[in-house]
Amino acid sequence: MNTLNPSSFLNEIAKPTPIAEEADIVVCGGGPAGVAAALGAARMQRQLGQKPNVRLLEVHGQLGGVWTTGLLSWIIDAGNKHGVMSELLEKINAKRAQMGEEPPVKTGCPYDVEQMKLLLEQMCVKAGVKVLLHTRVVGAHVDEQKKLTHVIVENKSGRQAIGGKVFIDCTGDGDLAAQAGCTCEYGRPDPDDPSKIQAQPFSMLCLLTGLERDLTKPYHDRELYDWGTPKENLRAAMRAGGADPSYGKPTLFEIYPDLFTMMANHEYGFSGLNAQDISDATIQSRKEVHDMIAALRKQGGCWSKIRIVATASQIGVRESRRPLGVYTVSLDDMVEGARFDDAVCRCTFGIDVHATRKTNAGGGIEDKPVGKTQPYDIPYRALVSAEVDGLLFAGRCISGDFFAHSSYRVTGNSVALGEGAGAAAAVAIKQNTKLAELAYGDVVFPELEKMWGLKQV
Ligand SMILES: Cc1cc2nc3c(=O)[nH]c(=O)nc-3n(C[C@H](O)[C@H](O)[C@H](O)COP(=O)(O)OP(=O)(O)OC[C@H]3O[C@@H](n4cnc5c(N)ncnc54)[C@H](O)[C@@H]3O)c2cc1C
Repeated sequence: MNTLNPSSFLNEIAKPTPIAEEADIVVCGGGPAGVAAALGAARMQRQLGQKPNVRLLEVHGQLGGVWTTGLLSWIIDAGNKHGVMSELLEKINAKRAQMGEEPPVKTGCPYDVEQMKLLLEQMCVKAGVKVLLHTRVVGAHVDEQKKLTHVIVENKSGRQAIGGKVFIDCTGDGDLAAQAGCTCEYGRPDPDDPSKIQAQPFSMLCLLTGLERDLTKPYHDRELYDWGTPKENLRAAMRAGGADPSYGKPTLFEIYPDLFTMMANHEYGFSGLNAQDISDATIQSRKEVHDMIAALRKQGGCWSKIRIVATASQIGVRESRRPLGVYTVSLDDMVEGARFDDAVCRCTFGIDVHATRKTNAGGGIEDKPVGKTQPYDIPYRALVSAEVDGLLFAGRCISGDFFAHSSYRVTGNSVALGEGAGAAAAVAIKQNTKLAELAYGDVVFPELEKMWGLKQV
């Protein structure tokens, strides 16, 4: 029950907002997309002979978004990416080797959340990005020419404005786009009642230890078994202990032989844009995670020492606003395997819609709306606001439809999109070009290739 719908209004006393800073590029949100955007922007400014003047704003006390605050631990669609994404994978695996840990499982890209926090901070520091943590973007100032000139932030220093030449919305939720007055879509109409909107469920991730990797192989090992069998085994084990997981395909991911992450719950019917919903889902899901682990532990055997290291401090919200861009990525692009001259990122991950309600067997993954999709490109234009000048989007809040979003939202793509947006912002400022007029393929991509040390194609 939502208790936060306003029924009356308080007129606050207007007062001047101090302008704390004028940056060139202001990145809002420090998740995978935001960190990559800030790195892309700062490095590109340096490459273009300028001193980086990039501000990164993040509401939580660490960078990484779902990667760290959400305890994700598993990167998808990273294998074909250059730039920041491949650099991150190299650094993650080098650190692992340096710590004397075994190589990562071959079936995915796991990472250590704590190491990721440190790595992202240090990469930003080295690149000269100015990081402001514990800072929420709460407003935007758009002038009469429809140009975004400042964001309003709140933190321990109070309420302040930060100016910029280009702003990049990497909040995942499209907070900045909404504050700037952009048209946004959310979820999809409920097929049974199109007047209602439905969206993918939230999940509370957690880190687990006390598991013997070799003894628990039937519940996680995707080299020995197919992708589905370990999930079915885990679900059966939880049910045997008296807990029926709300996600019908509960999953354990191995990070180290004695450290796992678990995704086993679905919180249905909540909105990622409603504070009370997010709070209620957090409380409900944390209890379910503890109940599921208690159900496993009480069975003894390979579960006798299982312990929760941490539940996420930010519940995983799969989808929020999709602001309107100059181009909107669509399901058709996925079916056709779209190619563009201004491609920023090639996505290889398919449609992945988690059940929007608990109707099918336990609430798993929905059937796909089309038979086959192909790797497809995301053009720069999908990152450019169609309505507000000076505003780019990156990560899961670019312009796309419901099904395309379910694919491009994974973090390998978020990083590539972020880096592309940051680099584009730097080039646009240097050339004094409007974002919507920037020729990404002709101007930005060759600069990125120089930065990556690749031969120009
Ligand atoms: C449960 C779940 C499981 C998933 N599984 C996988 C998986 O296995 N592999 C994979 O690659 N992807 C997975 N994804 C998808 C992926 O995690 C996200 O789509 C991805 O994190 C998007 O990156 P982002 O940077 O756009 O957004 P986020 O990671 O959400 O980062 C947004 C950042 O902005 C900050 N922020 C938000 N609002 C504000 C504000 N107003 N002011 C300041 N800061 C703000 C947030 O704190 C956060 O740090 C999963 C997602 C969920 C929710």
